[in-house]
Amino acid sequence: MKRDVPPQVLNKIMDEGYENLILDLFMEKEENDDYEISDIPMSPRIMKSSNEQVIMTQKVYDAYLRLVNRVSNPETAEEIPFFLLGNCKEVNGKRVVEYEDIIYDIKDGLSETRVSTDDDKFRQVLNDDRYNIISIGHTHGNVREEIKKKSLAANLPQDLIDMYRIRTTGLNISISDIWQHEYYKQIAEQIAQGSKRIYQTVIMYNGDFITISSNAIAKSNDIKVQNRGDIVIPSGTEKQNQEQLQYSILEQQIGKTTADTPTIKKSEAQNQVTRDEQELEQGITKEN
Ligand SMILES: [Zn+2]
Repeated sequence: MKRDVPPQVLNKIMDEGYENLILDLFMEKEENDDYEISDIPMSPRIMKSSNEQVIMTQKVYDAYLRLVNRVSNPETAEEIPFFLLGNCKEVNGKRVVEYEDIIYDIKDGLSETRVSTDDDKFRQVLNDDRYNIISIGHTHGNVREEIKKKSLAANLPQDLIDMYRIRTTGLNISISDIWQHEYYKQIAEQIAQGSKRIYQTVIMYNGDFITISSNAIAKSNDIKVQNRGDIVIPSGTEKQNQEQLQYSILEQQIGKTTADTPTIKKSEAQNQVTRDEQELEQGITKEN
């Protein structure tokens, strides 16, 4: 396994409680240079639940649904980079992150297994004083079977998969996601000197919303849409036990499908959005 991750990033992740996972997977593939340490998958199933509430504006929520919808199809399952812009506040003693806007950040071509964020655009959004929080985000898609088969997650012995509750490709984050967060946090530190909070968001094709911050790697389960009382996120809002049940059903469905049939049974919320890829493309082009 190639040792591509800087030690300080690795130490941070180990301190978050992932030491055994990293060591076990490293030892398992130590002799195999097809994989890198940054490939090591970390499953939302072993993550804690975020203690912050997320509130999205209707615009951000619509974009979120469109992204989930798009990357659940193996034909369009690329990692799409974006920035979520918002403000962090305290409401009745509870920390709330309000995402007001989303901008896409597509400079180079899209890939199913890699994402690149535009440093210049990041510097630009850092200077926007309407927001005190910037989340660098991207999607994890339901990639084609041949890509899944090559992934580290698909090439681990069953006992490790069970022990660390590792899911199929697209439904885990990887160490590279945390590395990316550290990298942008450092740029922000130099430019904004602590005036901005930098997060990293990963939106998965089953709707999971993962937030990496300075002090947590967590799954956001408390998500609301501004000015709407109800919670309408396709997944990620259920209580832990229901959540596990849903995951196992979902994973069975995914396991049974082939690469050329769209997999996920759409939830009611997803169905509200028309499957309009062009609209997303236009959004992307417009923002650039
Ligand atoms: Zn990622």
